[in-house]
Amino acid sequence: MRLPLHWKTVFQTILVAIFMPGKQIWHSGCEDGDRAYFAQTTPIRAFLLAFGYPIVDEYLARKIRAAQIRGITRLTPFTILANIVNVLVIIPISLPIFPAFYVFVWAAALIGVVSYMGWHWFKGRSKRIETVSRKALAGAVKHATVLSVFWAMVPIAAFAHGDTNLVWIASCITIGMLCAGGFALATVPHAAFRWVVILYSASVISLVVGDVPQIGPLTFLLTCYALVIIGSTASAAWLFASHFLVEGELDQRTELIALLLNEFEEKESDWLWETDSVGQLRNISDRFLHASGRTQKALRSMRMMDLAYTVEDNDAREAVIELQTVYYDEQPFRDIVIGVDVNSEVRWWSLAGRPVYDHRGNFMGYRGVASDITETRRANALIEHMAERDFLTGIGNRSWFLKQAETLLSEQLESGQETLTLFLIDLDNFKVVNDTSGHPAGDEVLKQVTSRFKAISQGKTILARFGGDEFAALGQFVSEQAAEVFAEGLVNVTRKPFRIGTRDFAIGATVGFARIRKDRDTVSDLMRRSDIALYKAKESGRGRALAFENEMELEVRERRELESDLREAFEFNKLTVEFQPIVGARSGQVVSSEVLVRWIHPERGDVSPDVFIPIAEHAGLILPLGSWVLKHACSVAAQCPDLQSIAVNLSPIQFMDPNLVEMVSSILTETGFPADRLVLEITESVFLKDVGSASHKLEQLRDMGIRIALDDFGTGYSSLSYLRQYKFDKIKIDKSFVDEIGERSDGLAIISAVIALAHNLGLEVTAEGVERQFQVDALRTLGCDSMQGYYFGKPDPNPLKITHIKKKDWEDRAPSTAPENPGVASVS
Ligand code: C2E
Ligand code: CA
Ligand code: CA
Repeated sequence: MRLPLHWKTVFQTILVAIFMPGKQIWHSGCEDGDRAYFAQTTPIRAFLLAFGYPIVDEYLARKIRAAQIRGITRLTPFTILANIVNVLVIIPISLPIFPAFYVFVWAAALIGVVSYMGWHWFKGRSKRIETVSRKALAGAVKHATVLSVFWAMVPIAAFAHGDTNLVWIASCITIGMLCAGGFALATVPHAAFRWVVILYSASVISLVVGDVPQIGPLTFLLTCYALVIIGSTASAAWLFASHFLVEGELDQRTELIALLLNEFEEKESDWLWETDSVGQLRNISDRFLHASGRTQKALRSMRMMDLAYTVEDNDAREAVIELQTVYYDEQPFRDIVIGVDVNSEVRWWSLAGRPVYDHRGNFMGYRGVASDITETRRANALIEHMAERDFLTGIGNRSWFLKQAETLLSEQLESGQETLTLFLIDLDNFKVVNDTSGHPAGDEVLKQVTSRFKAISQGKTILARFGGDEFAALGQFVSEQAAEVFAEGLVNVTRKPFRIGTRDFAIGATVGFARIRKDRDTVSDLMRRSDIALYKAKESGRGRALAFENEMELEVRERRELESDLREAFEFNKLTVEFQPIVGARSGQVVSSEVLVRWIHPERGDVSPDVFIPIAEHAGLILPLGSWVLKHACSVAAQCPDLQSIAVNLSPIQFMDPNLVEMVSSILTETGFPADRLVLEITESVFLKDVGSASHKLEQLRDMGIRIALDDFGTGYSSLSYLRQYKFDKIKIDKSFVDEIGERSDGLAIISAVIALAHNLGLEVTAEGVERQFQVDALRTLGCDSMQGYYFGKPDPNPLKITHIKKKDWEDRAPSTAPENPGVASVS
């Protein structure tokens, strides 16, 4: 049969306490699961606790040990008295039988031990023992052991000698001591067990030593007594410990509550409040009076709701309703924040409260805590304000704008209107201000821009700065046209220069806008569409306002994808260059090669530079990409001494870069490629964006020995004026003119005029896109200096490759009329 677990534990504990004091009970055959079970049931916990097992936290354990010790010390005077009386009885009887020396030594030692205990008791009698360590408890067990050993000598000596009187007295004393000691030590059961076991063993030994005839029944009786004492001691100890366990844990909880209450009382901003069943304030504390700025009398005639009604504010009014509702439902509540007029100042109180009932369950009112949170609320409001404002311009920031947009949009959708329009505004040349005049000037420009925007958006839209030079506006416009007029207005106000100190800055702005749509539009849809329109507007030349159109979406998405793919391709070195031969018209020899960048897209295949160069420009990738092409081409060409020169294209953005000249010269130095073998091709658009430095840059580059070619000649705006204004070495006639040879009657005439003009200005002429034999012949006859086109060879990774012509063919043709040295024929 299996004993219930806790009985097993009880026996184990008792046996361990008797035979192996100090050993941990759970190692003797308990599983971890059982252990958890013991620790949970209070009777077992109390039992184990009585035997000094660490069931509770040390603080509580110390208190319980103190109570155990107090249980013993309370009886110490009687114990001492009993010991002394017993000694006094024993001495006269044993003196005639045993040598006086032994008797006195025994008596003196025993009295010594008892006196020592007595002295200890006397010293600490007025002190209440509050906590006791494990060691001190072990000390008590030791005292009991020593004393019991002394008393154990009495029966053994008496029975060994056999004197009847002595045996009688010794038996009485032993039994008496066994019982009295057991019970006196009951609060410390392991001490009691030691006492009982030692005296019991001594008695049994003395029965054997004295060869007593009725040894069997006597031993049986003794064992019964001992067991009864052990059982009742264990049970008394258990009762004692249970009591303290409950009380101790309760005490601990009370202490915690008191601690919390103390803290609460010490906080100036909190106070208790109370109302009666009709809600009127009762038992008003001084702190409450002080916080409310009212008299006792005034407050007593008010309800919490009345106080909350003294402030005219949406939040405050909502709180009153909330408060009324919980009161009506008799619900407990917390964190209701009411506004209270305190001496004409608005204070905010956070309230918590619970309904109170009498013993019959009648509602008696509310009791609760109030805290003045005005300062916290102010701080939060300030933080909120700061979090929603743009620090520099004082208008709203992005997150504020998006929140507002959310509200306006849902209002629109509810009302079924479609007039909401979102404008995204990007300043055009803002970076120049920062770069040339520093950030304070930039900040000033932003402030001025803001005030101009504010002036025209007043009453029409909300306005925000998204950061940097990005702004946004949102408002209702009855028609697309009205929105467009406003958008144009935004652009126009930035056209007038901005005066910072003594300098004027021309800035300008680009605007993209989109209107809400019937189908459930979100703010981010609106943002995305305006952003696409803005992107498109920037791409088509900035300084303008563009409304979103459906076709833009796909195009822009594709462009964005390409942009990120290009970035990746460039980063992972996936771009290459090819060389297209430029052939001298007189010699038929390759005189130069144009360097053309190539990108093979993993999915789209060959992407034309006409497509990805503008993307690179837009993405701010053109500077690194351009210098990579230049460097790569120069280092390849440096290995081909047969190649007279290479022509590298420069994007207008590269040309505008203030570091262009240094970049080029450092690449030449690095690659060891001579400057006079390099031609840089630029287009007329460079001069459109000229801020006065183009001319200077051209000179610097030419001073280094680099030649400059004007590319795509004839496709630009006022081509001829540039030729006079800036110094070039060469022009490249655009393919569209070459295509007209033989197509249009005046095709030849135009080319002829251009060539004559160029030669007049001392410029060399290259014809581009030459594909046909008759074009070659015509161009040679007209005096074109060099030609480039598929006729001679398509772009190829090999810079020297020519496929179409052989020298012999060339010599058989009509002679070229190109001047021997066009550069020298200059007249200008
Ligand atoms: P581009 O400077 O006018 O370059 C000549 C373009 O005409 C090249 O196109 C070339 O492959 C093409 N081409 C040459 N001969 C013929 C022909 O006989 N027939 C036809 N149909 N086309 C011919 P590609 O390589 O697509 O380059 C297009 C443009 O991309 C270039 O026009 C240039 O403006 C730009 N580009 C190319 N590489 C670079 C570069 O490294 N940097 C910069 N900034 N722009 C580059
Ligand atoms: Ca070119
Ligand atoms: Ca060209």
